Amino acid sequence: MRILLVEDDDLLGNGIKKSLTREGYQVDWLMDGKQGLAALKSDSFDLLLLDLGLPGMGGLELLSAIRKQHNSTPVLILTARDTLDDKIEGLDSGADDYLVKPFEMAELKARMRALSRRQHGHSEPTIEYGRIHVNPASMEVKLDGEEVELGRREFTLLMEFINHPGQILSRVKLEDVVYGWDGDVESNSIEVHIHHLRKKLYPEFIKTVRGMGYKAEKPT
Ligand code: CA
Repeated sequence: MRILLVEDDDLLGNGIKKSLTREGYQVDWLMDGKQGLAALKSDSFDLLLLDLGLPGMGGLELLSAIRKQHNSTPVLILTARDTLDDKIEGLDSGADDYLVKPFEMAELKARMRALSRRQHGHSEPTIEYGRIHVNPASMEVKLDGEEVELGRREFTLLMEFINHPGQILSRVKLEDVVYGWDGDVESNSIEVHIHHLRKKLYPEFIKTVRGMGYKAEKPT
C-alpha cells in the first residue's frame, strides 16, 4: 500500500513513517498542504493520512479540493482538534475516518486496515485468496495452510496483487507502491521480488503480461 502522509509535525511525521514502513507500507511524507495537493494530482495513493492544521493550505481545504476533482483516495484525518464540529466538518468534507491526537500507533494501523478492507470489499480481517491466506494485521501469509516467510517488500507486492485480482499492474505502478519517492530503485528490482514471490508461493500465481506488466491469477 502506498500512503501519502501530510503532517507538519516533525516528530509525529517521523514516528508514523517509521512505524508504518516497518509493516510494509510505502509512506511518502510531505509537510505542506499545497505540496500535498500537487502530489495527489500527479501520483496515486491508496490512502491519505491528513493533518488539518498545515502550512500552505489547510487539511480541510485540501480535502474539499481533491473531492471536487473526483479523487476518491480514502482519507484518514489526524488532528488535535477534538471538538464535535470539526469531526463533522471533516467527515462532511469527504474524510473516511478521523483520529484525534494523541493516538496510539496500534489504533492508527487498525483503522488503516479497516479502511483498506472496506475499499477492497473484504469484510473479514483475514483474506482468503485461492490457496493463499493473508492476515494483514500480523503480516502472516500461508500457502495451502503452510506458513510462508515473506520480506517486507514482497509482502507489499503480494497485497497489491491481492487487492487487484486479475488486473494488469505495470512495473512503474508496482515500483511506486513498493518504493514511492524513496528512489534508488534498481531497474530490475521488481522482477527480482516477483521471482521470489513466485518461488515462495507458486509460479502460476503471478503471470507476466508481455510489454504491460504483471497480474495475479484470480482466486478460484
Ligand atoms: Ca499540524
